[in-house]
Amino acid sequence: MKTPFSLPLIDADVEAEMLDTLHNTGWLTSGPKVAALEAELRRLYNKPALCVNSWTSGAMLVLRWFGVGPGDEVIVPAYTYSATALCALNIGARVVMVDVKDDFSMDPEQLAQAISPRTRAIIPVDLGGWPCDYAGIMEVVNSAEVRQQFTPANERQEALGRPLVLADAAHSIGARYRGGFAVDWPDVSVFSFHSVKNVTTGEGGAVLLNLPHPFDNEAEYRFLKVFSLNGQTKSAFEKNQAGGWRYDIIAQGLKVNMPDVCAAIGLAQLRKYESELLPERRRIVDQYNEALSKHGWALLPPVKDPERESSYHLYLLRISGYTEKQRDALIQKMAEAGIGTNVHYIPMPMLTLFKNMGYKMEDYPNTYRLYENEISLPVYNGLSEEEVRRVAEELVARSW
Ligand SMILES: *Cc1c(COP(=O)(O)O)cnc(C)c1O
Repeated sequence: MKTPFSLPLIDADVEAEMLDTLHNTGWLTSGPKVAALEAELRRLYNKPALCVNSWTSGAMLVLRWFGVGPGDEVIVPAYTYSATALCALNIGARVVMVDVKDDFSMDPEQLAQAISPRTRAIIPVDLGGWPCDYAGIMEVVNSAEVRQQFTPANERQEALGRPLVLADAAHSIGARYRGGFAVDWPDVSVFSFHSVKNVTTGEGGAVLLNLPHPFDNEAEYRFLKVFSLNGQTKSAFEKNQAGGWRYDIIAQGLKVNMPDVCAAIGLAQLRKYESELLPERRRIVDQYNEALSKHGWALLPPVKDPERESSYHLYLLRISGYTEKQRDALIQKMAEAGIGTNVHYIPMPMLTLFKNMGYKMEDYPNTYRLYENEISLPVYNGLSEEEVRRVAEELVARSW
């Protein structure tokens, strides 16, 4: 029996939605399916949601909307997937990395020390679906000290009066925080709908707006819609309506809209995400916890406490006392048993691009400590109870 690390959900509902797109709407790029996916996101999370073609492009769009560029600093955790930093580098900003806490999330104290008068945005990451300490992060950015040193360079920055908190919610669709959703806290959250994520459109993402007063989130949504379409006031779908040909270009936007053929896949999944898909992920993670908690060497990932509940995207297991070499050998032994495992993540300062830019692993000791003995186990819809049992058994047989 082979168990891959990850598989996208392609079931009868996905097929039906895809066939409806191809045969009934006859429309391939942004149109009725994107509108339906945005409406479903809005219904679930109660915020305007803009669909885009990836997390990375959505984050770049938001940073450009806020006027972030050369000379500005963006703060990210050292422990994340590189896109968290690349979205800022791609628009010419400088990336400042901070260390994480033992639960893999951005440390508000490290954040407070890293903020400078040049800080324009902060990108905390809900790693594996575990929400950051948003209360702590928002307290830091809203402090009088941070507000006083923030010098706005445009009207949006003036309206906010402090750095933008853009959550990397690539993993955390549906994650809960203090009685609501994690997306109720940061100014903007961006989901990823990449093929390995909880909900997928093949490639894609969504920007959820939660800007504070005096922003009008509906008006900003309408602007971002245009901004994500080359700054063009009408989509091809709208222009295709009888007599609708005339349009204007009102801003230098990006071209990062989501096609309907992609939206159809995500729409079929999202409709049953909160009721079926997320509970199934929780069931898998609970089963791993149950099987592994009796072993002293198994450091279980954070998934639930009185304030927070994960979206169960990744099972970030750590093996107490393991070195990086021992962990790598365990991954190899699991592969020989036909089980795909993974590491989330190789810290950015260990990757060539960032090393060459001068970032040093020694500056982020907790990040390295978490990484060196981390092994992610398979979690996806359709993974059977029997497979989860086998993964846990094989792991127990091959580790300490
Ligand atoms: C997947 C991922 C991204 C990038 O998402 P794309 O949709 O592929 O651009 C960003 N951040 C994290 C933490 C991710 O895991």
